[in-house]
Formats: sequence, structure tokens, C-alpha cells
Amino acid sequence: MATLRFQALKETFNRKTVLVNEPARRSSIFGENVFNEHAMRQFLTKDAFKSVMGAVENGSKIERSVADHISTGMKEWAISKGATHYTHWFQPLTGTTAEKHDAFFETVEGGQAIEKFGGGQLVQQEPDASSFPNGGIRNTFEARGYTAWDPTSPAFIYGTTLCIPTVFVAYTGEALDNKTPLLRSLQVLDKSATDVAKYFDKNITKIIATLGWEQEYFLIDKALVAARPDIALTGRTLLGHASAKGQQLDDHYFGSIPSRALNYMRDLETECMLLGIPVKTRHNEVAPNQFELAPIFEEANLAVDHNSLLMDIMEKVADRHSFKVLFHEKPFAGINGSGKHNNWSLSTNTGVNLLSPGSTPMKNLQFLTFFINTIKAVNEYEELLRSSIASANNDHRLGANEAPPAIISVFIGSQLTEVLNELEKVTNGKLSPQEKTDLKLNVVGKIPEILLDNTDRNRTSPFAFTGNKFEFRAVGSTANCANPMTVLNTIVARQFIDFKASVDALIADKKMKKDDAIFNVLREYIKDSKRILFEGDGYGEAWEKEAKKRGLSNNKTTPTALKPKITKKNIALYVDLGIMSKVEIEARYEIKVEEYAMRIQIESRVLGDIARNHVIPTAIKYQNILIENVQGLKNIYGDKFKLHSKEQMQLIEQISLHISKINKGITDMINERKKANSMDDSENRAAAYCDNVKPFFEEIRYHCDKLELLVDDEIWPLPKYRELLFTK
Ligand code: ADP
Ligand code: MG
Repeated sequence: MATLRFQALKETFNRKTVLVNEPARRSSIFGENVFNEHAMRQFLTKDAFKSVMGAVENGSKIERSVADHISTGMKEWAISKGATHYTHWFQPLTGTTAEKHDAFFETVEGGQAIEKFGGGQLVQQEPDASSFPNGGIRNTFEARGYTAWDPTSPAFIYGTTLCIPTVFVAYTGEALDNKTPLLRSLQVLDKSATDVAKYFDKNITKIIATLGWEQEYFLIDKALVAARPDIALTGRTLLGHASAKGQQLDDHYFGSIPSRALNYMRDLETECMLLGIPVKTRHNEVAPNQFELAPIFEEANLAVDHNSLLMDIMEKVADRHSFKVLFHEKPFAGINGSGKHNNWSLSTNTGVNLLSPGSTPMKNLQFLTFFINTIKAVNEYEELLRSSIASANNDHRLGANEAPPAIISVFIGSQLTEVLNELEKVTNGKLSPQEKTDLKLNVVGKIPEILLDNTDRNRTSPFAFTGNKFEFRAVGSTANCANPMTVLNTIVARQFIDFKASVDALIADKKMKKDDAIFNVLREYIKDSKRILFEGDGYGEAWEKEAKKRGLSNNKTTPTALKPKITKKNIALYVDLGIMSKVEIEARYEIKVEEYAMRIQIESRVLGDIARNHVIPTAIKYQNILIENVQGLKNIYGDKFKLHSKEQMQLIEQISLHISKINKGITDMINERKKANSMDDSENRAAAYCDNVKPFFEEIRYHCDKLELLVDDEIWPLPKYRELLFTK
């Protein structure tokens, strides 16, 4: 019987490209399945429409009586589009999305039925919350949580289900999801940034954070994945020898997109259009079978929802094309992993991007204010920012031999470095008229509207300024963007509040002019933030040493990277700004720590199983063939058989050696696992998995991969790297 591997390969070779229907004009279907302004105007009463828009634009409350009108309109719209069910759609702390479908259908007296969807059902639901991670906030006997409608992210129809974006909170009030803290951080950011922006323009009354994510992923044929238990269960290969050809020829990046993948993308993008996800860019990434998709940026909350939704759709569409999409940060050893760059900026109600240099010195001072405050915030809270992207998967990128490093630093480019150097020389106290003129003409006034050398030059930086936005590149490809975005919004909000207090104090106490005060505070910030600015090679060993000297953290593993989440300083940050309570913070920490240990545990079990049940039996089978061969040679040649069987004998010995090493590795690993499992404290358990269990992976893999090279290809059961990566 052919092995699963050969059946899978055969299936793959016979794959037909799935044809897709795509409208000539994408704009014609954009947002068709979204309950957007256009749909609301059609299906809602005037009052109901005004009420929703008020909630979206100013966060005003929606009255219960109005909610009934809204739900009726929403239901009619949904049914007109073929929807039969509705669901509250939310993002529990598993990092993915959750949904539970209920039919509109209800029975009424007289054996008849109607379609019903009331305001109560729109506004609030009570999913059984006991099966979602809660970090010990609630005991299961009081496992009551509820989801509540978030009107700022529009409802949409996927398949035949009306999905209503919601937050997910415990009855005791604690957030149990990723959205709640994000929304709180966006509110605090709005207020604090607006207060600062008013120094420059009184017409600014609202500031939103904008997010444009870039999603990287791999596409692997689904039959091949089915023959690889490691990919199927952990999302990555736990073993597999490097392919003779990998990415060394640099021939994949921006290369011509293979037709099967392209058809997948077209199908996916059509779905995105219908759902109002403004996808714009698609291309091959560096590694073979690796791709990227990026949208036009949006308001951060909506962008986060859209990314979560996208990941879900990507998996569903992949299935239609017989692909499995891998979001894992490092599915294959030795070639590039995947990230999700988070491009972040601030935008005003007057339509100004606050991180975009302007055409006048005053606009540039505004730009510099927001720019420098962001740098200062990252400097103050670099460890917290690092913790926001920590996961077992992302450890393979950060702190391993791949971009970006675990050290957080900020790249700003040479032009802006020069500007900051000049600003640092600003006089302490009131500025002379001459100095002010000089500053306006020669420093602030000289920032060009488009920063040429700032495009994307330094790819090794985890946090780079790219001309009109910061690009947080260390975010992992599986991450829910809400986490890093919440931290970023929160730390800059804290910074804006402090900045405003300092500037106001100088104006009030030192009788300084507003500009003088701003220049003075910015000068001090530049001095304070020097250590975080780095323009060099982020991968180099030299930077590790330099960063250490500068006192920057270098938290290479998840257990150490997570710890700063619960320091006094960082708890105070969240609590003071009302983003999260101490209980919420500690619960999240607990969930992350536990998740880490469980992921390593699962990988360890899968690796042990594959090595023992697939690799070793195959190696023995091949060894038996060799032994038979040697015995045959002995029959023919008698004593002289050694002359003809040297290679075979060596192979037999090598195979035995690798098998014994694998066996020992697995046995020792299981022992360490047992020790780790017996630990009551989750922090210790995570550390034990990291420091004592995980190190065996490499050793076991090494010997398995050696065997892959020795054993007859005909009987090797697992699809090889060359097959996984070069099957198109
Ligand atoms: P690249 O980084 O490849 O040069 P772009 O600068 O066009 O390409 O943008 C990359 C990503 O950054 C896109 O997803 C884009 O939507 C996003 N982006 C651009 N401007 C902003 C902004 N002001 N705020 C947030 N994201 C932005
Ligand atoms: Mg980019």
C-alpha cells in the first residue's frame, strides 16, 4: 500500500485550479454584505439611524426603545440578503473569534412561525462563558458572561448569518475579550491626543488611531498537510530536513504569483470586498509558498475586527481551493517566518494624519510633538510593548535568528535624526526671537513633506517610522492586533497626558509662550529617549551588546517577556487610565502563561509521537532491508562479504545510533514534562516547559532529520520540505 505521503503527492499533482468569478469592478460589490451607512439609511427610521451614527461618532448611548427599531431594520436587511441566523461575534482570549448562531425563526401560537430579532437580542446575549479562558476571574459555577453590541464596528453577513460585533465581559464587569480594553484605550487616546492637538488647531475635536496590518501566511496543499501530523496539530513542522533549494536564490519575493495561489487570492479578495474589508495589496513573500495581503488602513477597532474576520475567511476559502493556510510565525525551520506588521498612526476629525509632516513650520511642530511623544512612550514602556507580542510561536522569530529582534528599538531615519539632534540644542527656558526664527526656518521648516529616506530601508527594526506612520513589525502573524494596539494606544495616551501637564506647567509657572514651552519639553524628551533610537542592524550581535549597555530589555522567551505585564509600573499605567483593573491584568497574564505551557506541551507530545511512531519504525524497516542485503551478500561471498557491504554496515550502525539518540531524547523529554506538569504554580510550569522541555526539540529533530537523509525515499512517510514548499 502506498504511504499517505505518496497518496497526498498524487492528489496534489492532480489538483485542478478552482475557477473564481470576480466582478470587473470590485468597487461595485464593496461592503455589499455590511450594514453600513448606505444600508442603514435604507432600512432604519431617521431616529434609529441618527442614534447609531451618534454612537459611532461620539460614543453616545442608544436608548432601549430605539434599539428595537434598529434590530427590526437590521433583521429586514439581513433577511433580504438571505440570512437565516444571527450571532454575536466576539474575540475571546483564545485569540480567535467566537460565534454561536441562533435562527431568526420563532414559533408562535397556532402552530405558525415568524422571523424575529428584538432590540434585546441585538444589544446583549449570554453565551455560556465557562468554556472560554478567563484566567480565574470566575469560577465555573458562576460562569456567567455576556456579549454586548459594539455599534462602532458594523454588523455584517457571512454565509447566511448576520454577525454582530460585540464585546465579551463577565457579569462582575471584567473584560473577557480583546476588544474591550482596545475600545477603552482608544477612548483615552482620543481625549489625551485631542487635548494636545488643540495647542495647534482648535478645530480638532476627535482623534482616532489608524491601523493598517500586513498579513503574511503560507499556503500548503491540504492533502500534504493531512500527511503531516505536526502541521495539522501545531501549525508548524516539528521536523523535516531542509530542502536542497530553499529561499537562497531570492526568487520568490515579488515573483509571479502561482496560478493556484492567485485564484485563491482572487476568491478571498472577493469575499473581503463583500464584507467591506478594503484589501489592496497581494504579493509573494520571501519564503517559497509564502504570501502577503494588506488592506487600506482603517480606524483601529474596525481594522482589528477586519483582521480577525479575514483570518477566519482565509481558512474557509483555502478549504475550497484545497489549501491549508498556515498563519504560524515559523512553520518551517531555516526559511523566513511570518509576521503581521502593524502600521499605526493618528488621524484627526479635520482629516489630518498627525504623523505626517506638513507644509508649514507650525504643522511640522505639531508633527514633531506627536512623533517625539510616541518615541518617548516606546522608550518608557519598551518592555510592555515587547510583552504584547509574546507567544510561543513568536519566540521563533523574536530572539531567535530572525527578524525582528526581541529588543525593542525605534528607527526614524537620518533626516529626522538630524532634526532631533538640532532640537536637542534648543535653549533651556525662553527662546530668543532669533533662535525661534532659526528653528522655524532651518530645523522645523526644513522637514520635507515627504521623507524620502524613510520609506522602508531598515527592515531589521521592530518599530520603524516609515514617513507618515510607525510600523510595529514585531507583531506575530497569528496575533490578534488588539493586544499590541491596546498597549501602543495606552502608552502614548499616558505620554500625551504627561506632555500636556508639563507644557501647561511651563506656561503657567514660568510664564513661557506656548511654543517655547513645547520646544522645552520636547528637548527633554529627546534627551530622555536617546537609548531607544537605533538606526543600525537590529540582527547583529553588536546591537545586543549595545542595547544591554543602554539598559534596554532583551526578553527572548515568552515566560520572561510576559513578566513585565504585571509589574507595579505597568499595572498602574492601566489602572490609572481605566484601561484594565488589576484583576483583569493578572487574569490575562495567567492565561498567557498557561497558554504558553500548553502549546509547548502539545508540541512536545506531537514530536514524541511522530518520532516514535513514524520515524523510528521507518528507519527500522530500512535497516532491515539493509540487514537482509548484507546477509545475502554473505551468502554469495562468504567471508569476503565485508568487501561488498561496507556502506551498508555503516548505514546500519548510523541508523542504530540515531534511533537510540531519538529514544533517549524522547524519554528524557517526557521526564521533564512530568516534572513540569507536577508544578502547581503556572509561572514555574511555563518556565520549566521553556527551559527544560523545549531544548529537547532540537536534539530529537536533529536525529530525525538525519534519518530522513539516510532512509529510502520510497518508504519515508512524511511529506518532505521540498514537497511542502515547492508544490504549487
Ligand atoms: P509600504 O509599507 O509597503 O511602503 P504603504 O506605506 O503603502 O506600503 O503601507 C503599508 C501599510 O500601511 C498598508 O496597510 C497601509 O494601509 C498602511 N498605512 C498607510 N498609511 C497609514 C496610516 N496613516 N495609518 C495606518 N496605516 C497606514
Ligand atoms: Mg510595510
